[in-house]
Order: sequence, then C-alpha cells, then structure tokens
Amino acid sequence: MDHFDLRDGVMHVEDVALPEIAAAVGTPVYVYSTATMERHVRVFREALAALPQPPLVAFAVKANPNAAVLATLARAGLGADVVSAGELLRAIHAGVSPDRIVFSGVGKTADEMTLALRHGIFQFNLESEPEAEMLSEVATGLGMVAPVAFRINPDVDAGTHAKISTGKSENKFGVAYDRAHAAYTLARNLPGLKVRGVAVHIGSQLTDLGPLEAAFGKIGTLIDSLRRAGHAIEVADLGGGLGVPYDPALPVPPLPAAYGEMVARITAGWNTRLVFEPGRLIVANAGVLLTRVIRVKQGVNEPFVVVDAAMNDLMRPSLYDAWHDIRAVQPHGDRFVANVVGPVCESGDTFAMHRHMDRAAPDDLLAFMTAGAYGATMAGTYNSRPLTPEVMVSGNKWSVVRARQPIEALIAADNLPPWLATETA
Ligand SMILES: *Cc1c(COP(=O)(O)O)cnc(C)c1O
Repeated sequence: MDHFDLRDGVMHVEDVALPEIAAAVGTPVYVYSTATMERHVRVFREALAALPQPPLVAFAVKANPNAAVLATLARAGLGADVVSAGELLRAIHAGVSPDRIVFSGVGKTADEMTLALRHGIFQFNLESEPEAEMLSEVATGLGMVAPVAFRINPDVDAGTHAKISTGKSENKFGVAYDRAHAAYTLARNLPGLKVRGVAVHIGSQLTDLGPLEAAFGKIGTLIDSLRRAGHAIEVADLGGGLGVPYDPALPVPPLPAAYGEMVARITAGWNTRLVFEPGRLIVANAGVLLTRVIRVKQGVNEPFVVVDAAMNDLMRPSLYDAWHDIRAVQPHGDRFVANVVGPVCESGDTFAMHRHMDRAAPDDLLAFMTAGAYGATMAGTYNSRPLTPEVMVSGNKWSVVRARQPIEALIAADNLPPWLATETA
C-alpha cells in the first residue's frame, strides 16, 4: 500500500501533484512519501507485536541513506543496520540513537570498529574469526568491551536473484554453519568481546517464507547447541530480506503479518531479544523515480522511449534485471508496446523491453514505481551525469532533501596534477 494515486487524472504523492515537483526541481528526480514510510513501519511493528520481548527494528541504511529518510524512520522509532563508517555517521547524524545501531558487513576496518565502539553501538555482527580477532585487539586497545554476534551462513538458497542471495555456503557472507562452534569458542577466549548473539540474513527480495523459515530453524538449533556449550545467547538478529511487489502481474510477496506469525512460531521458546533489519520493505514502495520523455525513436520492432533518467540514476534493472512498473503521470489510456531506455552509452541502460504502457510522447512525465529502495543510494555519475536529486513529500508539503548536483561541482572535484596545471589567462 502506498500513497501514489491518480487525482483528476494526475499522479499525486500524498497531496502533491508530481508535475508540480518536476516543474520546480526538474527531472530526473526521486520523490518519497513520508506517509508510506510511516505506514510500513507501523505494519511491520504490528506484525511483530505478538513477540514476547519488544524487538529492535534496525532499518538497513544501505536501502536508502538520505538524511530525511533516516530522520523520518528514527522518529518512527527505528534503529539502524549499517555496513560502513559512513552509514554509521549518517544514522547518528539523522538522530538514530547509537544503542539502536547494528554494524554488519564482511570488511569492517579497525578504524570503523574504533568509531563504532566510541559511539557505543548496540552490536557488531561479525562475519569471520579474523574479524573477531581484529575487534578484540581494537576493543582491548581502547579499554572497551564490544557486544558481538556472529552472522551465520545457514547454507539456505533464498530463491532470489543470484546477486542478492547471501545465505548459500559459497557466498562471502557470514561464518559457515559448521564452523559456528569453533568461532564462538574462539571469541569467548578473546579479551574485549562480549559474545551474546547470533545473526542471519540470507538475501533480499525474498518472495517466499520457506527459505527464511528454514534458515531461522537452523539458527534455533544452533542457539540450543551453543547454550549447551556454555555460550550465553541473548540476542538473535534475523536480518531483513522480505520482498515487496514490483510487478503487479506477479503474486504478492508474503505480507509482514504472515512473516510475523512465522517468526513468532519458529522463535517461540528461544528466549532471546530479536533484531530485524528490514530495508526494502520499509522504503521501496515509498519512492518513485520521476523522469521525462526526451524523444521516441523508431526501433526495428518496437519504438524506444528515451527518458532523461538512466542506469546511473536507477541501477537495479541493469544490475539485477529488475522490473519496475512504469506509469504515465497523466495517463490517457491509449496504449502501445515499447522499450524504455536512458541516454547512457551502454546497451545495459535499458529499463524495460516490450513494455505495455501508455503511448508516450516527448515531454511526457513517467514514474518508475517502487524506486525508494536501492535507487538513489546506488546512483553514480557515469557519463558525467550529476547525482539525482531527491524530494520528500508529507501531506501537502514537499521539500528538496538532496539538491541536484551542479555539473560544476562534479568538475571541481577533480584536480589537475602540477605538470598539467597551466596558468590561466
Ligand atoms: C541489505 C541487508 C539488509 C536489508 O535487506 P532488505 O532486503 O533491504 O530488507 C539487512 N541486513 C543485512 C546484513 C544486509 O546486508
């Protein structure tokens, strides 16, 4: 459920008409709905209301790190799951309390560990034994104790796109299930670590609860055996990964309520505080990428609709073959079949092939739906296209939450070496 609706034939975000934003800010531009984000937080919390202990819901910052998004979610009570010093600082800057921050990722550096320890984060999710050794050294050096969990790779196929599967044994993530006991024993004997949790995250855009249930079942078994071996397991972090609907023609992914019921059933008797790390579920449907048609070019088979957004603005289609619904902002009902492409010089700069859509003409506005997660955050400047601006709507108010980067800023970021820098006249 989102807040992007047609009113008098014009797509609105809450109470704001998209053409108004396009006229003021230009295109391409990401537009986010506050009410949609808040609604998703509420629905996710309600789905977990039956758990015996209140969980920590830590938004996966990488899905959308815009300060306005993080501040909205922090006010709604979410913590943060971060994977870099940059995300950690962004989350704290946006008002997330450090004691609600989880630090994930396979490549945390000593500097990042130091920063996170000094801020007093909730927990480090360690992904290997060498990482535990490094954190032990860093914490001991600071005279501090780091609260840690090991992320366990349960060797479960998430059944999603290969590039967003993380829980198979051949993936780089986590400690292999069979090595878990060795890792916990090692960590228990390292100074400066308080080993108190288990974590798992098997992938993203999961459209079936089966793999999650299988992974959580294995984690439950592991918690039992770790406790029998004398490890005090107080926290179980079940990660993120629940999918969202992108293609209205496909079955709807499991609703948060069904996920919550499954979690409550599988974790009954664990006697742990649960942590969740949803990213996409909270923000995907809360954002669109608004773009304008530059021209329509005849193709051999179908016409190409060339829009002013490109793969550098929204990478998911070229990276994951992802499908985004493409809607006319002012639909007229005359349909055609077309390919929708951006201006970047790559064949991969293709948003959709053979798409049934409203017949598009130059200057028409189109909205790429479900673009609030892994959209702006993955944007780059390939083809010297400045970073995409972002706008947030709340009711009838809207605000530019990231300004369009002027091309001068991109150019000024480079420096000439002394031997090329010549005196200017
Ligand atoms: C990316 C990621 C998430 C969030 O995944 P979603 O599919 O967006 O919910 C959660 N935890 C970890 C460790 C991640 O890497």
